[in-house]
Amino acid sequence: MKVNENSSKSRRSFFKKAFASIAFGAAGAYGLSAQQYPAVPEKSEEGPEAGMPNRYRDKFRITKLETFKVKPRFLFLKIHTDQGIVGLGEPITEGRADTCAMAVQEIAPYLVGKDPRRVMHHWQAIYRHAFYRGGPILTSALSGIEQALWDIKGKALGVPIYELLGGPTRHSIRVYAHARSPEDIKKARKEGYTAFKTGVKNARQSGIVASPKFIAEAADAFASLREAVGEDADIGIDFHGAISAANASLLIKALEPYQPFFIEEPVNCQNVDVMAELAKETTIPIATGERIFTKWGFREILEKGAATILQPDMCHAGGIFEGRLIAGMAEAYYASIAPHNPLGPISLAAGLQLAASIPNFLCQEQVTLGEGYLKEPFKVENGHVPIPTKPGLGIELDEEALADKLGHDWKNPETYLESDGSVVDW
Ligand SMILES: [Mg+2]
Repeated sequence: MKVNENSSKSRRSFFKKAFASIAFGAAGAYGLSAQQYPAVPEKSEEGPEAGMPNRYRDKFRITKLETFKVKPRFLFLKIHTDQGIVGLGEPITEGRADTCAMAVQEIAPYLVGKDPRRVMHHWQAIYRHAFYRGGPILTSALSGIEQALWDIKGKALGVPIYELLGGPTRHSIRVYAHARSPEDIKKARKEGYTAFKTGVKNARQSGIVASPKFIAEAADAFASLREAVGEDADIGIDFHGAISAANASLLIKALEPYQPFFIEEPVNCQNVDVMAELAKETTIPIATGERIFTKWGFREILEKGAATILQPDMCHAGGIFEGRLIAGMAEAYYASIAPHNPLGPISLAAGLQLAASIPNFLCQEQVTLGEGYLKEPFKVENGHVPIPTKPGLGIELDEEALADKLGHDWKNPETYLESDGSVVDW
């Protein structure tokens, strides 16, 4: 009995010591002593951070939100703080820069005076207190704000955003370039790209039931790209939701021999069942997402099997962390993520942070690597961009180069069927 008591005492003492060393080890890892790392922090008693741990009572407040239009069709956001840290975002729906700037202006009174580091809390407040949830304008405004808050938080902690999302899942990120012609695709290949995306030749004039000539010419145009870069390149094709479901079905069949990387938006995403039917008809992966917002929008796509490549846009879908949540949902369906991005370098930087932190990343779209916008534009090598290493989004605007790009009057194209003047999608 005595022996047992002793041995039990010594076990307790061993575990006590072991746990103490783990606790000190954890605090030590952050460069803090046990005294500076209290188990129950003091609470803030008043102001917007009332009830929060003491560190949120420290001076760190949003002071101002500033948007500015940048050519050709971008809207950049700067969130200023009393710590001198400025966060960057792109809160834009294409063709609605002024509307989005106004949406940001209307959200600003909520944010000014609050701590920028509570990214998820502010996301929830902005999204849910709107009462009318989502939609392109409000979710794009929220997305740009979310990017800027992450940028501030990463800069405050001195780490890239992907470090706060679990650390890097890869060392480099595949990006794709747009190509309309064999010349385009050869040029992009020379620049280092190995993945590409094209459109459907003359898509807007295809009508409701296309002629055999239209289908043959569209397939031939794709075949010429395949021939130009060979079998080891990946070439996606974007139907842009601009052709009818009947034509999409015919065209997918005609393209199959050339094995596109993916078929993007074979039809518009307003009727997910139709897209799901098309997905079942083919072995080519279906991609969609640029006009889908938040986890709630992507849920139906996954559940109905309408696409296996999701393309959330970091400027529309709800931001970086919403992209992370969508990636988690996609993972459960063996689906992958290829962030949509026809916008500017801040949008690209946000997509790269997501790509760097998820397991099921496929490829990142880009139309600019930041030349003329960023002090250090991204560089492509062997089809990939190295993961960013600087804090936050990891980019710095080149204000001097931006000076002559400020302001724009970009408008979405008006497109009509030539034969009868009726409206068609662009
Ligand atoms: Mg598209």
